[in-house]
Amino acid sequence: MHVFISERVKALTPYTPGEQPQDRKYVKLNTNESPYPPAPGVADAVRAEAEKLRLYSDPENHLLVAALAESYGLSEDEITVGNGSDELLNFAFIAFCDQNCPALFPDITYGFYPVFASVNGLPFEEIPLNDALEIDFADYQGKRGTVFLANPNAPTGIARSRSEIESFLKSRPDSMLVVDEAYVDFGAESMLPLIREYDNLLVIQTFSKSRSLAGARLGFAAGAPSLIKALNTLRYSTNPYNVNRMTSAAGVAALREQQYYNDNCARIMQTRAYTAEALRKMGFLLPESRSNFLFARHPAIGGEALYRGLKEKGVLVRHFAKPRTAAYIRVTIGTREEMEVFLMETEAILAAQT
Ligand SMILES: *Cc1c(COP(=O)(O)O)cnc(C)c1O
Repeated sequence: MHVFISERVKALTPYTPGEQPQDRKYVKLNTNESPYPPAPGVADAVRAEAEKLRLYSDPENHLLVAALAESYGLSEDEITVGNGSDELLNFAFIAFCDQNCPALFPDITYGFYPVFASVNGLPFEEIPLNDALEIDFADYQGKRGTVFLANPNAPTGIARSRSEIESFLKSRPDSMLVVDEAYVDFGAESMLPLIREYDNLLVIQTFSKSRSLAGARLGFAAGAPSLIKALNTLRYSTNPYNVNRMTSAAGVAALREQQYYNDNCARIMQTRAYTAEALRKMGFLLPESRSNFLFARHPAIGGEALYRGLKEKGVLVRHFAKPRTAAYIRVTIGTREEMEVFLMETEAILAAQT
């Protein structure tokens, strides 16, 4: 049967999303969702919009783009929106890479990047992080290509400062830099304030993590109008209605309640500090996280064994089986109560080891 399938698709290894098992109730700390519900006004906005589902959405997403522009002090031609930031990242691969301009990104980063390159038939190079799992910008020197930088990085949680990334940008004036800021609201510095200064900088953010809208699928990209125009060409060449009515309304409503989300992020950062300290006391090693997750390993137990042990106890975390990440688990920061369960079960598993 596979004779009908193209060579490119036959060769594809798709992205593996975190599991969403339905067999029982888990303490779900595996996909970096927010433990808090969307802001109170969001459900009402979605309900009102549901009445209008007979009609196509506004392909320009004018109300949402205007609300984003106002929130971030940008103009509307500097912003476009996507069906999750994943869609915009895919567009960025198509728009800013080609056979002579490979995608460059770390060996340990968002697992979707090699897939976006492959599905579009684009060359890419994975450049190893250093032994501390940090990016060394010098490793990119003299390499032609478009750099994709998750900042904070996933799954390490490590962030570089705005000034470090700006120096890197300055060192590559003839190359594009795409900064994926999925986790920036949990204590890192955004590059958004610099998009006017650098026409080779595209910043992509999502409503999935800090704004509790993972299931709505909403992301946005910000950059020079020429870059945004290219992304919109791709939007209009695939699906001009990529952001549906209810999601668009949810986004506008969410932007009106920034204080609610700021409070949630502050709470998550506090819980992160508490959890990190408790893990270190148990002997875990973990880098400083600026995201809503921790990436941790323990000298006495492998990442996969810990992942399996926790799953048996009803706690879901993420394990990445690649050689350089196999020792680690990635655990999303949930509520304080959820983290107490995670810590208690982890301690029990470690005690049973010895
Ligand atoms: C979660 C995540 C995204 C994608 O989120 P969407 O839900 O598609 O907006 C993008 N980049 C990184 C690094 C992520 O972890």
